[in-house]
Amino acid sequence: MAMARHSVGVAARSTVSAEAKLALLEDLHACTDAAAAAQSAAEWLLAHSAAERTIFAAPDHVRGILTGIAAAGVSPRQVKKIAVPLDDSNHPLINALTNGSAATFHRPRDARLSVFGDAPFTSVKIGTSDDAALGLLLISPATDMTAASVKWAADALGRCLEHIGGHPAQSGEDDPRVRREHALLFSIINAATDPILFTNLEGQLIIANARAEMLFTAPDDVSEGRRRAVQLNNMFFSAALSRTALGEREAGRRELLLVDPTEGSDLLFELLSTVISDPREGTGVVSILRNITDLRMATRQIDENYVKLRAAEAEIRAERDRLNLLIDSVADPIIVTDQEGEISLMNSPAERLFTVFTGSGEDAQRIVRANDAHFTSFVSGLLSTGWETTRRGEIALMDPKTGKLVPVEALAAKMLSDIGELTAIVTILHDRTEAIERNQLYEQLKLASEELEGKVREATGELANQNELLRRQALELEQASAAKSQFLANVSHELRTPLNAILGYAAMTLQGVSGELSAPQRRNLSRIDANARHLLTLINEILDITRIEAGRMPIQVVNFNLPDLVREVTTELEPIIAKSGLKVICKLPSDLPALRTDRQKVKQILVNLLSNALKFTPKGSITIKAQVLAKQMVSIAVVDTGIGIPKGDQLKIFEDFRQVDQTPRRAYGGTGLGLSICRRLTTMLRGTLKVDSKLGHGSIFMLTLPANLRK
Ligand code: ADP
Repeated sequence: MAMARHSVGVAARSTVSAEAKLALLEDLHACTDAAAAAQSAAEWLLAHSAAERTIFAAPDHVRGILTGIAAAGVSPRQVKKIAVPLDDSNHPLINALTNGSAATFHRPRDARLSVFGDAPFTSVKIGTSDDAALGLLLISPATDMTAASVKWAADALGRCLEHIGGHPAQSGEDDPRVRREHALLFSIINAATDPILFTNLEGQLIIANARAEMLFTAPDDVSEGRRRAVQLNNMFFSAALSRTALGEREAGRRELLLVDPTEGSDLLFELLSTVISDPREGTGVVSILRNITDLRMATRQIDENYVKLRAAEAEIRAERDRLNLLIDSVADPIIVTDQEGEISLMNSPAERLFTVFTGSGEDAQRIVRANDAHFTSFVSGLLSTGWETTRRGEIALMDPKTGKLVPVEALAAKMLSDIGELTAIVTILHDRTEAIERNQLYEQLKLASEELEGKVREATGELANQNELLRRQALELEQASAAKSQFLANVSHELRTPLNAILGYAAMTLQGVSGELSAPQRRNLSRIDANARHLLTLINEILDITRIEAGRMPIQVVNFNLPDLVREVTTELEPIIAKSGLKVICKLPSDLPALRTDRQKVKQILVNLLSNALKFTPKGSITIKAQVLAKQMVSIAVVDTGIGIPKGDQLKIFEDFRQVDQTPRRAYGGTGLGLSICRRLTTMLRGTLKVDSKLGHGSIFMLTLPANLRK
């Protein structure tokens, strides 16, 4: 590096107009700080000398560096680059500041001198005394020191800076007024609740208020945790700041998450940083941190509340839709009125009563008005009372379409909000027409029913009288029947005794006990005997019927075999069978179960049926059959090939004393009581006795009985 030293000459040729000089002097006079004065001079030089770029560098005794505080034609970054330690006596610029008055650096390849890149430049020392240099005016391209304009401007700046006071970067330090202002400024910054910091472009802290110190500085005696928190905070802050520094000069806003060194909790700040240039402090960044932790929480809360609000709104809307649907789906008219009693909502049944449809006539309009008046007076009745919440009453409305009266029962209820404010009145109208008609119908029905009841009562009384009468008659009949039975029993008994005596004596006489009988005597005696026997049969049968009627013939159930019984019957009737010359065949199945019923009565029936068959069958045969039927029933049939019974007599023969041939000179004897006794006995055994016969061909008498008679 070649360096030449010159004294700024006094014989400079003035080429600058007096007006220009006066303008600079006025500018400098108006300046109150060194940076502004240096800036004026730098710019003036660009306009009035050969200088293309100028920088004014001043010593900063606080930071101990020579630093650029003003410039013209140079980028701020280039100015900021100048930071030469004042104690670096080997540095050519420090040398120039302390020793020479002016120096030109022709080929400044030395990196330390690349103020204007590698362009040569001239440095002019500002300040009269050697020991108190006020700064260096660096001019590019290297200038002729004798240039009057440069020298004049440097002198003017020097005087001005001396006038402003002391060193440019330290001006006012010793002035008590300035110190007071400083102190006031500091206390103002400290009073701020937000952390405020001033840092250089490297992120080093230059000034910080108390709040900021709490976050970013840690005294030696603090805990390790707190120290780490502070370290972290510094790291985060530097990172945030470097992003700011990269940006433009305007204020940048960003969020910064720091740690509370005392509590360890997260703190969210909004970082407001502004790059400022100060002639003495140089370029730096002022950062204000605004604690937005609570704000963020509040914002989040607001967001949540907003979401809840929207949900509630949606629910209310849905609720209202549901309500509308509900109101519309109800068949009764529903009207919703507001606090003033004005109708705010109604369903279609209500619309029919309270709305005038287009094209409706004068009458319909009048009816709607009348309905409205009735309804309003009902609702205002509820509105006017503070304590009542519901009201029930009847309103006489009319149907605008038909003009018919619609008697309604109205039920109005106040709808209150959570805080008890009246929000609406809901009224439901219930059409009572049907109910009234129903009531009338019910009354009519009640009357008719009462009438009917009276009639039934009368009839019942009548019936009771009849019943009583019948009961008495039945009793009388019963008594009469009993008397008759008793009478018949007595008579039969009284008849049987002498009859048996007659039969006895007749038999003895026929046997010749009273001597030999002549033929006519024997014939007559035989007739006496036969008639007496007939009479005895008759009496016996009458006695049987009487006993059955009087209930004096008990049932005696026993187990027995039918084949045994049939055998017994045929054996008993053997003499008659033999006399008839008929063939009696028994066809009884081998698997016939034992019967359990009254054996004596079954025998009496079979004897009777077989006797009849023998009596009314002149030739042929008689068959006795048996068969097991369903439902535990057994049938026994007596089949003959006899004279048969005409169809018309087949029912009559079961009546008392009934015979097919009723004439006195009939061919067959008998009493006509046998079958009627058989029918009675069969009934006692819960069976049936039926006949099937064909005249001239024979008859079948069929007895059907339960195999097991339960008493
Ligand atoms: P009775 O035999 O004593 O006359 P019943 O009551 O036994 O009385 O019979 C009534 C009548 O039924 C008989 O008189 C007879 O006319 C008719 N009858 C009964 N059984 C037969 C039969 N097997 N064949 C034809 N007629 C009969």
